[in-house]
Amino acid sequence: MDLLGNDRAARRHAAVRAAVARGLVDERQPVVGLLDVAGIRASAASLREAFAEVRTGRPGSGGVLHAFAVKAAALVPVLRLLAEEGLGCEVASPGELALARAAGVPAGRIVLDSPAKTTAELREALALGVAVNVDSRAELDRLDALVGPAGPGPAGSPLGVRVNPQVGGGAIGAMSTATETSKFGVALRDPGARAWLVEAHARRPWLTRLHAHVGSQGCPLELMAEGVRIVYELAEEINDVTGRRQIDTLDIGGGLPVDFTSDAALPGHREYARLLAATVPGLFDGRYGLVTEFGRSLTAKNGMVLARVEYAKTAGGRRIAVTHAGAQVATRTVFAPGSWPLRVAAYDADGLPKAGAPVPQDVAGPCCFAGDLVAVGRELPPLETGDHVALLDTGAYYFSTHFAYNALPRPGIHGWLAGADGRVRFAPVRAPQTVEELVAEGGGAYRDGLSALG
Ligand SMILES: *Cc1c(COP(=O)(O)O)cnc(C)c1O
Repeated sequence: MDLLGNDRAARRHAAVRAAVARGLVDERQPVVGLLDVAGIRASAASLREAFAEVRTGRPGSGGVLHAFAVKAAALVPVLRLLAEEGLGCEVASPGELALARAAGVPAGRIVLDSPAKTTAELREALALGVAVNVDSRAELDRLDALVGPAGPGPAGSPLGVRVNPQVGGGAIGAMSTATETSKFGVALRDPGARAWLVEAHARRPWLTRLHAHVGSQGCPLELMAEGVRIVYELAEEINDVTGRRQIDTLDIGGGLPVDFTSDAALPGHREYARLLAATVPGLFDGRYGLVTEFGRSLTAKNGMVLARVEYAKTAGGRRIAVTHAGAQVATRTVFAPGSWPLRVAAYDADGLPKAGAPVPQDVAGPCCFAGDLVAVGRELPPLETGDHVALLDTGAYYFSTHFAYNALPRPGIHGWLAGADGRVRFAPVRAPQTVEELVAEGGGAYRDGLSALG
């Protein structure tokens, strides 16, 4: 696959055409998700290769674990595919942990990060041997009570502390986790925090990791690399003070942004790995094991939402295509369109790229509120009933961020792969939610519960 995306459009056209011909999107299922299996494999390979290329020494005790951030695509077959490509999972809730385990990812390749872990969650992670990054001083107290002074032992969970390097935010506030007042991690530059961290490690030889995740979409690579450098310096200081190689693994988080404006997958893992190697050479000289937690950079460009156009109308002189893809599947885009613009591709009733001179149109969703628009005034060939729209680059955070408004069902998802003969084959990834399931979710089992109270 070409990282510049030169063949991505052609491959996408073939997938849409086959999905329409196969009836994967029709009146009964007017919106579906499609995932590019070859693209996901290629993204995983690019991550592995990028970090292998900049390595100057044999990786430290833990080697290199690329743990996919499950929240980006909380789908068991995707986690399984990535596991086959050598990746593990970064999880942040009991549900995500269960998904990783259902995918057959071994505990030793799972990392638990969450700012609100309950005692029960910590206990489960420790029992399984899943790595845990502690998010706060209070959580470290809780962990102390669970593992005792001796810690979990060499065969137990690797334990670390998440640090907020407070390097500042990126273009999207909600995605910036290393601001002065971020809710994540131990704020390193707060008065006394650094000394507390060094001391906390000196007293707990079993705290062997440091973790930082500076942010996601909108954070410049230089900012992320600077956050990693600060955490690396802290690890060096802790190892100096304790006189042993206590910190043996650095978890550098994820956050590589996605280009939502073109088919290019740039900047890629390689650019980021090279920048890290230039900014923090010691990271790759073999003294530290490494954990990464990329999410969006692995799947965003390998997924799309494909929806039928139900009606076309005009209002106040404006053309509007009313489709089945709105806030329920593109929640962030609808509610924060400035931060999460999406490309929309137009296809005809047969799934062929739509012909015709582009005219400005609103692309609306099915939800009953006026703001349910995935694009406003977008230049597209005139859309009509029976056509299709594809929301591109939606393979990360869209399928796992369903919005249950109007009791609209979670759409089905299919993975696709084109054979050497060009024939596209599909495999189910997730069944569409049924009306019966929606009723159950809406408390169908408790129909008379309120009336029975009196
Ligand atoms: C969300 C998150 C990630 C993944 O971020 P991406 O931008 O999808 O790469 C990694 N680590 C942590 C702790 C996160 O919260």
